[in-house]
Amino acid sequence: MSNKVILVIMDGVGYDTALSQCGYLEGMVELGRAHRWKMRTALPTISAAMYETIHTGLSPLDHGVSGNEALRRSNVPNIFDQLHQAGHSTAAVAHSYFHTLYNGPYDPVEHVEVEDETKAIQYGRFYSMEGYSAANICAPAEIDLCAQATRLIRRHTPDYVLLHSSSVDSLGHKYTADSAQYRIQTWHIDNALARTIPIWREAGYDVFVTADHGMNADGHHGGNEEIMRNVPFYYFGAAEVPAKDQVLDQLAIAPTVLSRLDVEIPDSMKQKPLL
Ligand SMILES: [Zn+2]
Repeated sequence: MSNKVILVIMDGVGYDTALSQCGYLEGMVELGRAHRWKMRTALPTISAAMYETIHTGLSPLDHGVSGNEALRRSNVPNIFDQLHQAGHSTAAVAHSYFHTLYNGPYDPVEHVEVEDETKAIQYGRFYSMEGYSAANICAPAEIDLCAQATRLIRRHTPDYVLLHSSSVDSLGHKYTADSAQYRIQTWHIDNALARTIPIWREAGYDVFVTADHGMNADGHHGGNEEIMRNVPFYYFGAAEVPAKDQVLDQLAIAPTVLSRLDVEIPDSMKQKPLL
């Protein structure tokens, strides 16, 4: 039997920060009600490149999205297209980059809300953070993002739901990873998830929580530092899991999601499913 899946991407939350700040996620691990591993990202550790890596199982050097600039639609097999082609429904509450990657060029008036069964992301709620500055971070509240995802779940019961929060990354760039702002916002995501993951589990979803990359004390990522490459990977669900001390590969996320949904894994996704 296939399971419905929610993937949460906490943009820019490194492994050590998750372990020290995510009291809910770590509490559930401590009680044996969730699993958590260290995951190693691909390179370069840049957001849009990692979004595409997470959804295609390919290194940026293979999928061709090597940065945030000149972003274009994905042209290799990815979670959203594979599910759509297999007749599954998908949803996303995410930065507009995800619209560009899987639905095409983003126009805020046309695409801030998407309800279109012909699209790879059929049900979408997108935010642009346009005007983001030190004076106004322009990030939605974590609980509002969770609420939007939960509303889409109640209305459409999509098979795959992506929830992506950009706030920690933005604050990390402004204040660095060695700052109260970065650490406390990580806790805000955790706190919103504490109120929401129980609702999602009750609705029958497996839940994964991870990050695209970490952040260093310069307020930067993109390179090969441990603090940029090590991210958490949490799993809430009943499947058999790898040993807890195993370091997981980010390239395995895409085939893992497809496998949970009983969808054929394309040849381009070389890693074995984690579960
Ligand atoms: Zn990022």
